[in-house]
Amino acid sequence: MTTNVLHFLEQGRKDPDKLPKNERQHGFKEIYRAFVQEEAVSQSERCISCGNPYCSWKCPVHNDIPGWLNLAAKGKLFEAAELCHETNSLPEVCGRVCPQDRLCEGACTLNTGFGAVTIGSMEKWIVDNAFAQGWRPNLSHVVDTGKRVAIVGAGPAGLSCADVLARYGVKAVVYDRYDEIGGLLTFGIPEFKLEKRVMRQRREIFESMGIEFVLNCEVGKDVSFEKLQKEFDAVFLGLGTYKPVFGGFPGEEAKGVYAALDFLIGNIRHLHEMPAGDYPFIDLKDKRVIVLGGGDTAMDCVRTAVRQGATEVSCVYRRDEASMPGSRREVSNAKEEGVNFVWQRQPLAIESAANGITGVRVKNTETGIEEVLAADAVVIAFGYRASPPDWLKKLGVTLNDKELVVVGGSSPFQSSVTGIYAGGDMVRGADLVVNAVAEGRQAAKSIIKQLGV
Ligand code: FAD
Ligand code: SF4
Repeated sequence: MTTNVLHFLEQGRKDPDKLPKNERQHGFKEIYRAFVQEEAVSQSERCISCGNPYCSWKCPVHNDIPGWLNLAAKGKLFEAAELCHETNSLPEVCGRVCPQDRLCEGACTLNTGFGAVTIGSMEKWIVDNAFAQGWRPNLSHVVDTGKRVAIVGAGPAGLSCADVLARYGVKAVVYDRYDEIGGLLTFGIPEFKLEKRVMRQRREIFESMGIEFVLNCEVGKDVSFEKLQKEFDAVFLGLGTYKPVFGGFPGEEAKGVYAALDFLIGNIRHLHEMPAGDYPFIDLKDKRVIVLGGGDTAMDCVRTAVRQGATEVSCVYRRDEASMPGSRREVSNAKEEGVNFVWQRQPLAIESAANGITGVRVKNTETGIEEVLAADAVVIAFGYRASPPDWLKKLGVTLNDKELVVVGGSSPFQSSVTGIYAGGDMVRGADLVVNAVAEGRQAAKSIIKQLGV
């Protein structure tokens, strides 16, 4: 290892190589190759340990980034993985899907002309490699407290809550209506950003830590919430937000118009030969596809349509490129894969003929000129609103005007009903994986304090 603190002057930022364009356009594999050992060490050594790690402050879980980069640079892989897990329950996931340009890497001191340290790729590299070499979280010192907490929702919020509880000797039983854990990590984010094997491995690790999963079990339908309240010392809710937002313009109900998550989940279930259930496969092969919206979900839809073999894929967004809310990296990946971007177009109507839809009528938000953009299929990706189940309202849990669960008060992340905690999208609104992780972890600490563990 070099001890040269000026290494960043000799070694520039290098992102992991990407798969060639033609492989990306036809396959669903993750597009970033892993660093080889020398690249990982060299990129870690670029960190100057600036003494005021803005990266850690900007990271929602406050990872000790200089700490684990330093360990990785010294070849102490297992120690680095251990340190990663002290603050983050899903580091290999966040390393893949966080919009680092807006978070840790956006705050790196080396942005002053040298290029930020590749923090996300290093987090992924450390944890992937430590797992591959047999490292696992060590809970041998944990003493069983006899306390039990039910967690509803196996998304990042619920999983992170379970992770922290298990490390404090509290039994976590996680209920989910789906047949796999992960929430949107499994049934939302496509394979080319996060391969599903990553979540399968994570499930094995969590199970080996004593976390129990009760899948295919919808709380409120297959098991009552009252039963959970009776049988457990506390309950954490991480149900996410699933009510799709529509534009409210004519033609949205037409055949050939799809909601983003229906399209993405149908594709994931089809690829993995899982029973389709409520998400039949939507095949956009040989179609001209327009995706309306400009966030991460829209990018996932356009890139999925490209891989399905759509003849033409366009993202139509009402503002300019700089105002797009999603990760810059994913917009640039979409462009590389052949997606066409049409900015500053407000959709007015989806137009149809006897054979199906023909296009989207839009208005140029700068000039006011209207035009019809031709399309055979339209995917609506305007985001998601809160979808609290009726039983939650009946319990008397206070919701705000956006139907999000109100938490805080006497104990962090506790709802208005004692013993019911909540976190993630159902509290903050549709947001980021790492914020759901942060809230699940904080809620677990709050539960532990309340239980007197
Ligand atoms: P979820 O992940 O939604 O998990 C909620 C879980 O609760 C689900 O598994 C659901 O089945 C379960 N559930 C709900 N009701 C019940 C019930 N009654 N009984 C049992 N189980 C129930 N964020 C990023 O940081 N980077 C990205 O690249 C990114 N891409 C995204 C792409 C898409 C297509 C979408 C939709 C979101 C994306 N996000 C991304 C956002 C991110 O996925 C979410 O912010 C995050 O998953 C929220 O976590 P959560 O645990 O609150 O909810
Ligand atoms: Fe960056 Fe996300 Fe990792 Fe934090 S969790 S260091 S924001 S990639």
